[in-house]
Amino acid sequence: MAKKKTAAPKKATKAIAKTGKTRPAEKERVLITGAAGFLGSHLCDRFLKEGYHVLAMDNLITGRLKNIEHLFKREDFEFYHHDVSKYVHVPGKLKYILHFASPASPIDYLKIPIQTLKVSSLGTHNLLGLALAKKARILVASTSEVYGDPQVHPQTEDYWGHVNTVGPRGVYDEAKRFQEAITMAYHTYHGLETRMVRIFNTYGPRMRLNDGRVLPAFIGQALRGEDLTIFGKGNQTRSFCYVDDLIEGIYRLLKSDCADPINIGNPAEITIKQFAEEIVKLTGTKQKLIYKPLPQDDPMQRKPDITRARKLLKWEPKVSRAQGLKITYEYFKSLTPQELYEKDHNTFEGYVRK
Ligand code: UDP
Repeated sequence: MAKKKTAAPKKATKAIAKTGKTRPAEKERVLITGAAGFLGSHLCDRFLKEGYHVLAMDNLITGRLKNIEHLFKREDFEFYHHDVSKYVHVPGKLKYILHFASPASPIDYLKIPIQTLKVSSLGTHNLLGLALAKKARILVASTSEVYGDPQVHPQTEDYWGHVNTVGPRGVYDEAKRFQEAITMAYHTYHGLETRMVRIFNTYGPRMRLNDGRVLPAFIGQALRGEDLTIFGKGNQTRSFCYVDDLIEGIYRLLKSDCADPINIGNPAEITIKQFAEEIVKLTGTKQKLIYKPLPQDDPMQRKPDITRARKLLKWEPKVSRAQGLKITYEYFKSLTPQELYEKDHNTFEGYVRK
């Protein structure tokens, strides 16, 4: 019986015929885009741990080198400061490409809408071309935002979505929908090996404290002694997945033979008001909950149906919100006062039209 190919060449060695000596086999190489971001940096850690050589790429518009600086001394890690919306070249072989470059916060979509559109359209096209040239398998990061403000609940992968193309989130949602379309076209037309993960709200260490998303917003407010800002009535729902669970799901999807999109997220649904109350309890803040207007097109409910992931990947989340929030809070507490009070980690002045 043919032996199943192992996942990665961990510490494997290759015999040299003449001398009888051995030398380490070449590691398989994986390109991770958005590598200095929240998810990208966790992927770098995971693939290094699995024995791969990691090529990390980021243009650092929203990513931060701090997330990957612990890897800089390693020989199996290299960093490319590059914008994938422009032609992408890397030397040598590639086994896998994981395309995780993109702004991922509603505030960023407003500040850098064109870059948001380009990275998942032009950027994806460039990386699909690279995958074809290198005969690599590519996994692209899609999103629950392809469902828009969903009219089907919980969201299954065969739901086509409810998206306002010209609303504030349209630049992200439509770019990600285009990304799925072009990825599937490369799969069907070129026979490229492709994988698509639809990522639901994820949290954990290395999220940007000031990127506007709800968890860093609430924890940042608690740590600074500010009131917690609930948008709308707080009856909109989200389902939060801890980052380690998400990375495990992505790793399994990459290794699977599933070219169709797969939801990866934690189905434990909660209203934003309940979530704020959990953060108050976690942090012990004495601050109030205050109410602000609901942003336009803010989805009212979101919860992944993960039947497909359970069946095809044998995956489901393991980390409870209580456990995950505790770890995440410890991370945010360890930030410097400068980081805590930084309103924007980068200046977007050049991008914003007055
Ligand atoms: N939200 C909030 N207060 C904040 C930031 C966000 O009530 O300070 C709400 C936001 O309106 C949305 C939910 O929290 O309903 C999740 O927002 P986030 O930006 O984290 O992600 P989304 O799932 O909307 O992309």
